[in-house]
Amino acid sequence: MKQIPHLIDNDFVAGTSGRTTPVYNPATGQQTAQLALASIAEVDKAVASAKAAYAQWSEVSIARRTKLMFSFRNLVVDNATEIAARLTAEHGKVTSDAAGEVARAIENIEFACGLAEHLKGSHNEHASTGVDVYTVRRPLGVVAGVTPFNFPAMVPMWMVPNAVACGNTFVLKPSERDPSAPLFIAELFCEAGFPPGVLNVVQGDKIAVDRLLNHPDVEALSFVGSTPIAKYVYETGSANHKRVQALGGAKNHMVVLPDADIDLSADSAVSAAYGSAGERCMAISVVVAVGDVADPLVDAIKVRMEKLTIGDGTDSASEMGPLITREHRDRVASYIEAGAAAGARVIVDGREAQINNDGFFLGVSLLDDVTPDMSVYQDEIFGPVLSVVRVDTYHEAAKLIADNQWGNGAAIFTRDGGAARQFQQDADAGMVGINVPIPVPVGYHSFGGWKDSAFGDTTIYGPEGIHFYTRPKVLTTRWPDPAGSSVNLGFPTNN
Ligand code: NAD
Repeated sequence: MKQIPHLIDNDFVAGTSGRTTPVYNPATGQQTAQLALASIAEVDKAVASAKAAYAQWSEVSIARRTKLMFSFRNLVVDNATEIAARLTAEHGKVTSDAAGEVARAIENIEFACGLAEHLKGSHNEHASTGVDVYTVRRPLGVVAGVTPFNFPAMVPMWMVPNAVACGNTFVLKPSERDPSAPLFIAELFCEAGFPPGVLNVVQGDKIAVDRLLNHPDVEALSFVGSTPIAKYVYETGSANHKRVQALGGAKNHMVVLPDADIDLSADSAVSAAYGSAGERCMAISVVVAVGDVADPLVDAIKVRMEKLTIGDGTDSASEMGPLITREHRDRVASYIEAGAAAGARVIVDGREAQINNDGFFLGVSLLDDVTPDMSVYQDEIFGPVLSVVRVDTYHEAAKLIADNQWGNGAAIFTRDGGAARQFQQDADAGMVGINVPIPVPVGYHSFGGWKDSAFGDTTIYGPEGIHFYTRPKVLTTRWPDPAGSSVNLGFPTNN
């Protein structure tokens, strides 16, 4: 069985803890590798490597850091197909979706390539006579990242490029479910010429995360994952005086007004609800149908669902792959039953899909007449189950979003500019789409939700990422009047 190691000091290091976990190909249900799970001592080794590297790395010139970042970017571009293949092999997402993930990872590396611009400070001359004041942004030291299974290539790139561009060194703890893509990207990072220790990867579970949260040499931690763990990570890291940003789960609503383009709305709902098997934190989970749009919209969504091809992600005909594990697939399927028992109408039942293999597949499901008291509405399902909630007015739709526990993304479909503008203001979420179902910001803006979708006061990547990975140092300088200097500067004198 293939063994997946850690990466410390630019070298692969076999696990020594004796603890391992299986890695599966979700499309076949077969175990494909064994992953080492780090002990506290192994995490300490990675942090020590990052700490040793920091002293020099934080002083490397902007010019050199920029060159290395460009080399890294080029290597990731050159190896995009291999990264995507690793994503499909362990996550299950279809090849086109995997390629899209790699493209968005590259976008974040490209943002970091502009580090010379991002790290410009600010300066005031003559704050007082002979006094100038300026602010520079300094790195923090060793920073860590803990990432989820659903974007194993992109989410680490929300963190690592900006952090190291700012002069920090990094310890990454990727998801234990699909670790090969992030490990390969880290290999490319080393190949690009970054010094040993600037990026280390420890494979692991709660033991590794807890050690990063209480390690005295870890200055900051970026987390992306489910809400309960995000909250735990935020509270524990903050209590240990670390800077923490912790992004959590979601329940994203898509409001469709009666004047919306039905075809555009239905296409968007289907791709946003079922793309990547619904395992996206920005997936649409609830369509809020306002007024008489509901019947034609549900019909149009159903027609499109029947045409979806579900299968192994390596098959170019597949539009949706399997779920990440057998247990998760069964949990998602249980919501169809729970919704029906609570009174929802099951328009399409994904459990009835004929998929002939042993992978962790589930067909796509559509539940109509869902109400806010049902578990299918209240819980983050994280699978290919779309709920339709029917309301009479726009205000009821906006209130549903406001009352929801989460506030990651929210979208509206309408042709009415006034209604769209009103929604921009009302939508109680961090990222809002107007006729765009998944409004993930481009890499030069920043990503983050509100309410239980994020803990900490800085969102991730883009300008806020630079802010998170640096701290200001403000310098106030006074120099004597040059006319009185002991060095002859050639100033005219009065005598
Ligand atoms: P998860 O919370 O189970 O795991 C995330 C990370 O935390 C993993 O690296 C895991 O090893 C670690 N972890 C798990 N249990 C832990 C514990 N008890 N203590 C310490 N660390 C622990 O999430 P997941 O299932 O990998 O990912 C799916 C979740 O991530 C969904 O809820 C999804 O909405 C969310 N997500 C959010 C965003 C966002 O930007 N807000 C992006 C992607 C995914």
